[in-house]
Amino acid sequence: MEDIRVNGTLIWYYHICKREVWLMAHGIVADQENTYMDLGRFIHDNSYSRKKKEVSIGNIKIDVISKGDGQVVVGEVKKSSRFKESSRMQLAYYLWQLKKQGVEGAGILMFPKERKREEINLTDELINELKAIEKDILKIIYRTYPEKPKKIPFCKKCAYSEFCWS
Ligand code: SF4
Repeated sequence: MEDIRVNGTLIWYYHICKREVWLMAHGIVADQENTYMDLGRFIHDNSYSRKKKEVSIGNIKIDVISKGDGQVVVGEVKKSSRFKESSRMQLAYYLWQLKKQGVEGAGILMFPKERKREEINLTDELINELKAIEKDILKIIYRTYPEKPKKIPFCKKCAYSEFCWS
């Protein structure tokens, strides 16, 4: 494998299943029929569609929902707050990538179905946490084999479910 890059999706799955991080990074094709494959991506919920704009920065795509006082506000809409830690770290990762490009931003995680939102601010502590996660992800994906599957509730929705459990 050459030029492995950590991205927001891997950050998201890192907090769910490290085996999945390896499988994704190694290009193991999952069951495309599984609609939950989209879980870690943006959903285009009507409640926010008028305000947001998808932009690409480097290898990431994010939703900029508004701009004010020179600050970019990055919004990310999630289906549910069940995987809040994954979502929180993924959005923090996007903010960190923006910061590296000289753009200071704040993040808002939105869970429209639950009428909840949470602001994410990129602190030094959070950056250090992200650096450690990035290192650990690289360690995982440079291994020859993935770790063995462990049954977790997410397996039921996971696109690799058949691959891991049949
Ligand atoms: S099915 Fe379960 S163990 Fe396998 S990759 Fe998905 S979450 Fe991980």
